[in-house]
Amino acid sequence: MDQIKKKIRVLSQQYLGQVISWRRHLHAHPELSMQEHQTAAFVSAHLTEMKIKHQTGIAETGIVAIIEGRNPQKKTIALRADMDALPIEEANQVPYKSQNPGVMHACGHDVHTSSLLGVAQILAELKGEFEGTVKLFFQPSEERYPGGAIQMIRAGAMENPRPANVFGQHVYPELEAGMVGVRAGEYMASTDEIHLTITGKGGHGALPSRLIDPVLIASHIVVALQQIVSRQASPDMPTVLSFGRFIANGQTNIIPDQVKIAGTLRTFDEGWRQEAHRRIGTLAEGIAQSMGGQCKVFIDHGYPFVYNDPAVAANVKKWAVELLGADKVVDLPLRMTAEDFSYFANEVPSCFYRLGVANQARGITSGLHTNTFDVDEKSLETSIALMAWIAVNALAG
Ligand SMILES: [Zn+2]
Ligand SMILES: [Zn+2]
Repeated sequence: MDQIKKKIRVLSQQYLGQVISWRRHLHAHPELSMQEHQTAAFVSAHLTEMKIKHQTGIAETGIVAIIEGRNPQKKTIALRADMDALPIEEANQVPYKSQNPGVMHACGHDVHTSSLLGVAQILAELKGEFEGTVKLFFQPSEERYPGGAIQMIRAGAMENPRPANVFGQHVYPELEAGMVGVRAGEYMASTDEIHLTITGKGGHGALPSRLIDPVLIASHIVVALQQIVSRQASPDMPTVLSFGRFIANGQTNIIPDQVKIAGTLRTFDEGWRQEAHRRIGTLAEGIAQSMGGQCKVFIDHGYPFVYNDPAVAANVKKWAVELLGADKVVDLPLRMTAEDFSYFANEVPSCFYRLGVANQARGITSGLHTNTFDVDEKSLETSIALMAWIAVNALAG
C-alpha cells in the first residue's frame, strides 16, 4: 500500500490545479436542486474525456460512473458527491463569483463535485494497481426534499453491482484546510417539518368572549410542545424542536380566524422520531380542542439521521491518519443539521466525513449557507488524495 499511497500523493499534487479550475467553473455556474443540467453535462464531458463508463439521467440529473480495477467482480465500493447550489446571492468579490443571479454554491457542493472528478482521474490512472470496482455517484438535489439520494437509490444506483460501502464528504468551515473530521455512530440529525394550522373564530379584538382566539391557542401550543423536548425526550437523546414561523395575520383590534405555525424537529433515533410525531399531534390537537378551536397537523418527513458505521468510520479515521498524520484528523461532535447521505448509509455500512476548508489567517471562515462562504482551495488536494486513498483501502479490506 505504501507504493500506491506515494502515487496518490503525487497525482493529487499533479491534478490540484485542474481540480481547482473545475471547482471555479462549477462555482461560477451554480444550479438549483433538480436543475443541475449544465453541471451534469460538465461532469459527463470530463468523465468521457477520462474514458470512464458512466450513465447520465439517473433521477433526472444524477450520474453513476464505474471504474473497474483488476478483478472487478471482487468487491465494489461507492463514492458520493452532491451537485446542487442554493438560492443565495453571492457577496464574494472573486474571479469565480457566481454568474447566476440569486444562485450560489454556498454549501460547497462545487468542491464535492470537482473533487470526485479529481478522484476519478486518479483512480482511472491507478486502475491497474487495485482490485475491485469503484462507483461514483454524482447526486442531484441534496438541499431540497425529498433529496436526490433516495431518488438515485430508487433508480437503481445501489445495484449492478451493489457497493459494500458508500463514502461521502462535506466541506467544513469549522476546520482548517488540510484537516479532516470523522465521527462514528450517530452523526447528523433526522429532520422533519412540522406544520400546524390552528382555527378558531375571529372578530373584534375588544370582544374576545364572542370569539375563539387562535392566537392564544397557537401560543399555548408552542409553549406546551417544548415539553416534548424537555420532559419526554430521553436526556441522552438529543432532540431539537424549533418553530421559526408563526403567522397570525390580524391587527391590533382584529383577531384572525386562523394561525399557521411551522417548525423543525431534529433527532437521532427512528423510534423516538415516530413517537415524537405522534405526541406533537396529540398535544397540539388536544390543546386546541380544550380551548374550543381546532388544530390540523401536517408533518413533512425529511431525511433520516446519518449513521456512520462504527467499523467503517474507524477505518476512515485510520486511513486519514496514515495519509495526513494524526495531527490533521479530529473527532467530530454531533450535528443537528441533516444530510440525505443518510439514505445511502441506511443501505450499506457507510461513512460521511468532513473536509476542513477554512483559513483563519486569510479570513476564510464564513459558515455554510452564508453569502460569503468560500474555501481555501488548498483543501482540494487533501480532498482528492484522501478520497482516492479511502477507495483503494476499502477495496483491499
Ligand atoms: Zn447545505
Ligand atoms: Zn451541503
